[in-house]
Amino acid sequence: MSRPLQFAVFGHPIAHSLSPHIHRAFAQQFGIDLAYRTIDAEPLAFADAVKHFFGEGEGRGANVTLPHKAAAFALADERTQAATRAGTANVLTRLPDGRLSAHNTDGAALVRDLTDRHDLDLRGHDALLLGAGGAARAVAWSLFEAGVQTLTIVNRSPDAADALADAIGEPSRVHTRYWEDLSNIGSFDLIVNATSAGTLGQSFTLPFTLAASRAVCYDLGYGKAAISFLAWARTAGARYVYDGLGMLVEQAADAFQLWHGKRPETEPVYQSLRTQSP
Ligand code: NDP
Repeated sequence: MSRPLQFAVFGHPIAHSLSPHIHRAFAQQFGIDLAYRTIDAEPLAFADAVKHFFGEGEGRGANVTLPHKAAAFALADERTQAATRAGTANVLTRLPDGRLSAHNTDGAALVRDLTDRHDLDLRGHDALLLGAGGAARAVAWSLFEAGVQTLTIVNRSPDAADALADAIGEPSRVHTRYWEDLSNIGSFDLIVNATSAGTLGQSFTLPFTLAASRAVCYDLGYGKAAISFLAWARTAGARYVYDGLGMLVEQAADAFQLWHGKRPETEPVYQSLRTQSP
């Protein structure tokens, strides 16, 4: 009997990752026989773990999550434009010649969740992006290309926000502000929390003035990690409040398509996860 195709997600910690469930559910839609497991690697052990998985382990593809996305980008042999713009990779793929290709599906996944699942037309929106880490960098480019009118990037450490805005290089539409000035920079139609504060069990206080009356507020985190920001958004009067569960399923779908050449249906998988994580 032939061995199933080998896939994995690398992270630290990783035990509670939903990725194995999502990829197995996608595979069932096409009758694909795959093995998808979690690999917990400490930062110093990541490069060797990847080498082993794609070498002796005969791995075909891997997802990568915190804290390894920058390392995954760095160790790849080739990188897509999306990965290069983000400076991080959440997908590694073994090419037929054995080299590794790095890709980043986070930005496209967020935009698809907002526009396709939540039916939002991003054009004309004044958007505020909180954070300038790996996910924020991917998301900033995608929001910009999806046509937001303006994108204001605010990060606790201002240099990272400035570097991101400079990289996009459209000063009339994309600019930065200081975190300390959040209470006097006006209001926004779309507010995206791309910080890892919730995931790290931390929280921050935001002024209610940030949310315009029809604001859409989106936290890249989900479950417990998103509770604090989404509670703030509801109290601030946001019209629509979303967590990052849909983005998680969409980024997995992009990886699945890259590896298997087939586009899975995301809605049934999203709905089944949603009933378990209201
Ligand atoms: P990074 O570590 O690369 O970046 C973290 C960002 O959060 C930085 O901008 C950092 O600011 C900021 N930050 C951390 N703690 C605080 C705090 N207490 N107050 C304010 N800002 C803070 O992480 P990623 O960009 O990879 O991930 C960010 C989040 O997005 C994570 O929670 C992750 O789980 C989630 N995510 C969800 C996805 C999904 O599919 N739903 C996909 C990808 C990510 P500074 O620069 O000052 O340190």
